[in-house]
Amino acid sequence: MSGASTAMSPARRLEGAPFASEIRDRVAGEVIAWVKSHGHPPGLTVVVCGRSAPSMVYLERILKACAQVGIESALVDVEGQDPATQEANLTAAIHRLNDDPKVNGIIVQMPLPAGVKLRAVVDTIEPLKDIDGIHPLNAGLLRLGYEGFVPATAHAALEMIHRSGVELAGADAVVIGRSPVVGMPLAFMLTKEDATVTVCHSKTRDLAAKVAQADVVVVAAGVPGLVTGGMLKRGAVVIDVGINVVDGKIVGDVEFAGADQVAAAITPVPGGVGPLTNALLLSHLMRAAQRQDHAKEHFEG
Ligand code: NAP
Repeated sequence: MSGASTAMSPARRLEGAPFASEIRDRVAGEVIAWVKSHGHPPGLTVVVCGRSAPSMVYLERILKACAQVGIESALVDVEGQDPATQEANLTAAIHRLNDDPKVNGIIVQMPLPAGVKLRAVVDTIEPLKDIDGIHPLNAGLLRLGYEGFVPATAHAALEMIHRSGVELAGADAVVIGRSPVVGMPLAFMLTKEDATVTVCHSKTRDLAAKVAQADVVVVAAGVPGLVTGGMLKRGAVVIDVGINVVDGKIVGDVEFAGADQVAAAITPVPGGVGPLTNALLLSHLMRAAQRQDHAKEHFEG
């Protein structure tokens, strides 16, 4: 383990903003090269069904970040009086975007309206344009350790762990949360990097005992204060993915003040994983655009 803290010294802050800014600069350079060779910018489209969802803030940040680096972005609003019509309109919109050569990446607002089948919508996205890694093909590629698109939040959590300097091979990692967008993809990524991974969830018995063994703890549960300083092994790396609003303030899933005194490195909330997630999505978009070019060359011989 590198970076172990001395007794009661505060943990190193793993801030997302500097890393996100490096990624955006790199993507901006790639966009310039893309425009030179293609005559138009790469494109990302966000599909939404119901603008009132809390995820609109997150999606609007993505659109703003696209504008900063020169990626053409658009928002497609899908309507419908009932779930069946919404689902049909969503899948029709996604098919159109799949067929549009100027759209290189597609993001669909989650959660979907009640009654719309997740599988029906997700399966429609062209896997080469699935920049947030939600299509079953990309999830399967990750499971098998092959190259595909991974969910940006899980990717951001992994990048933060890399930034902490911890040696992952042989490390004990605990991932709290098993969702398809954070916990499970991250567990597969950490396994691929030779960590020994324990995935915890709401039915896990004695979470504290699992966390106490861990060199790396990733919390993605959506439960404020779930992990406290007293649960952690001294010198652990703590990645807090949670975003919760408590008394009008955004907080994570880790009780920061206590964890800060025990961990070697910790991500703040806000300001840790979130900004990095947004920047990594832009880099996924560029990779999608480049891979679509290669696929086209291959197809056209
Ligand atoms: P999710 O789909 O609701 O999954 C939450 C997971 O946490 C589930 O697996 C659940 O277990 C587990 N869990 C809930 N309570 C628990 C408890 N008391 N002890 C142990 N495990 C528990 O959420 P998600 O989409 O993965 O998101 C997780 C958190 O990350 C949320 O706060 C979300 O807002 C945040 N988030 C942040 C970003 C970012 O960019 N920073 C992006 C996406 C999400 P079961 O499977 O047993 O129900």
